[in-house]
Amino acid sequence: MTSDSFSSLPISSAFVANLDSLGYKKMTAIQAQGLPYVLQGKDLIAKAKTGSGKTATFGIGLLQRINPRFFGIQALILCPTRELADQVGKELRKLARSTPNIKLVLLCGGKPFAPQKSSLEHGAHIVVGTPGRIQDHLSRGTLTLAGVNTLVLDEADRMLDMGFIDVINEIIAQTPDKRQTLLFSATYPSTIKKMCAAILQDPVTVSVEAEHTESVIEQIFYQAKASRRNEALLALFEHYQPETTLVFCHTKIQCDAVARFLHDHQIEALAIHGDLEQRERDQVLVRFANHSCSVLVATDVAARGLDIKSLQAVINFELPHDADIYIHRIGRTGRAGEKGIALSLFIEQEQPRVKAIAEFQGKACLVKELDALNASTGFTLQSPMVTIQLDAGRRNKIRPGDLLGALTGDAGLSGLQIGKIDIFDISSYVAIQRSAVNKALGFFSNGKVKGRSVRARKIV
Ligand code: AMP
Repeated sequence: MTSDSFSSLPISSAFVANLDSLGYKKMTAIQAQGLPYVLQGKDLIAKAKTGSGKTATFGIGLLQRINPRFFGIQALILCPTRELADQVGKELRKLARSTPNIKLVLLCGGKPFAPQKSSLEHGAHIVVGTPGRIQDHLSRGTLTLAGVNTLVLDEADRMLDMGFIDVINEIIAQTPDKRQTLLFSATYPSTIKKMCAAILQDPVTVSVEAEHTESVIEQIFYQAKASRRNEALLALFEHYQPETTLVFCHTKIQCDAVARFLHDHQIEALAIHGDLEQRERDQVLVRFANHSCSVLVATDVAARGLDIKSLQAVINFELPHDADIYIHRIGRTGRAGEKGIALSLFIEQEQPRVKAIAEFQGKACLVKELDALNASTGFTLQSPMVTIQLDAGRRNKIRPGDLLGALTGDAGLSGLQIGKIDIFDISSYVAIQRSAVNKALGFFSNGKVKGRSVRARKIV
């Protein structure tokens, strides 16, 4: 029997108090199942997805093993995407609050190399990053892994899907054989089984799956004609009118085409996939997260690790081949106990995929007729906010408060008209209520922020 109280674990009371202050009153299922083993130093295979509390499962474990007085990398966490690495880094920093002097470095692609190198030179304990950039550091001699005692592979299935297998193996070869290895994966295909056999020793396997229950996520399937899939998608939007939606497609080309189709039908949508440059990717994510774009069209790879909260709907433009992936996709909605809706389009040839999903979930899939949907013609979906991009950022010492102050002070906007503010190195993004955008732009054409003129443009 496992207890779900953190105080039942062999960790300090200061650590438990910190967890308590973070609002972690009791363990999630994966923590209750996995942490006792992690803290014993066992290797672990955990079948769990984002949202299950998996980061704390490895985070709490690895922090116990860090010696703050030894300035060398002692824990390495490999993630498929920069967004996931950012998320993991944030969570680990929160968890480490009760352990003084722990330094964590993020090593991700798409970011300048030199600051990462200098952070490493100053000494760090934990590295979180993406495989490609970590390998870069290893080959340039700016990173050594000889002192690693905990290795974590987060979203291992996704890393393999992204073709990182060789790079990962090269990285692992540079860590000591005597280490604890923790592998997290939402799915468990044969490639992962093979990898586990090669890199884990006598691992314990824990699994938490199919957590979303019917009451939280409503799942409805619609059969469409192959040539009418776009129109069927439009009908779903017109009927359900969701305010925030993630549409899943198979390919990059499909993503672009679907986003364009929606856009042509007055539904603002942006596509995100691996072909975007980092800057474009940042912009798309900023705009979706700050409510200046209501629909994101993504591939599985691109959607993984996105820190997007409270989606009203997930739509499968095409069903995945794997029921596992379907479950993972729809888990993006109905988070944190909110109600979500998962809508799936399939064509005749894809019926076996519906069957596989039904078998996987142990219940029939609810299939409804497209004809029964209310096609409210003339429907448009416009986001409530608009994003303004400014040509000044962190390097100009701009902070969110400076922009908020300028906009609510000199520019005369009310706080309610200003949404999320994101500051990047050389640019910033501010979400403004649609009705107040011109006022804000008017201010930036003359007014100053921190004594400096700032160029602003609306992103459309
Ligand atoms: P993850 O699966 O690691 O992405 O975690 C999902 C979210 O749950 C994060 O925002 C964590 O901060 C939060 N979380 C993790 N463990 C707990 C817990 N035991 N109690 C409450 N929240 C938690």
